[in-house]
Amino acid sequence: MPTPTPNQVPQGFNRYPTREQIELAMPLYEPSQDLQQALDVWRREGRGTPLTHERLQDLVRRLWIFTTAREKPAPQVVVSSVTGNNEYCYMPATNTINLGMKPSIISTLHEMAHAVYGIEELPACAFSIALFKAVYPRSFAKLEWKGHMLVKPGMSSTPITSMEAYPT
Ligand SMILES: [Zn+2]
Repeated sequence: MPTPTPNQVPQGFNRYPTREQIELAMPLYEPSQDLQQALDVWRREGRGTPLTHERLQDLVRRLWIFTTAREKPAPQVVVSSVTGNNEYCYMPATNTINLGMKPSIISTLHEMAHAVYGIEELPACAFSIALFKAVYPRSFAKLEWKGHMLVKPGMSSTPITSMEAYPT
């Protein structure tokens, strides 16, 4: 199946799945034990240290080899304001993940999922949330759903999953 080009993707919030759709899809994107373990090791190694962009770059490098797309080159992970507002995004043309200004594990997993599954939002949301939930059950339990996003209570303007853009 050909990968849709960015201008075939409907723009705006409505292209994101609902919480119900994501929860229904999560079992289909259940992360493998290897993936969960790799994230868990990374989590334990970083305990007590701040979450940085460098750690997130390392995270993608470590997880990629356990994804179903491991035969393909791992995406590059960069920090730059390609979208003009420093949002998380995945750019299929260059196989590059752009990290937003605020380091976020779920957002990084979400963009890595785009590199694995393609441009559709449902797999990206379902995979990233299922993997986060498996390794960070207590943090997950404290998050609140806001549309397709999970946010920290009282921080509704700071989504943990991203509202990313696909620059044309
Ligand atoms: Zn996405």
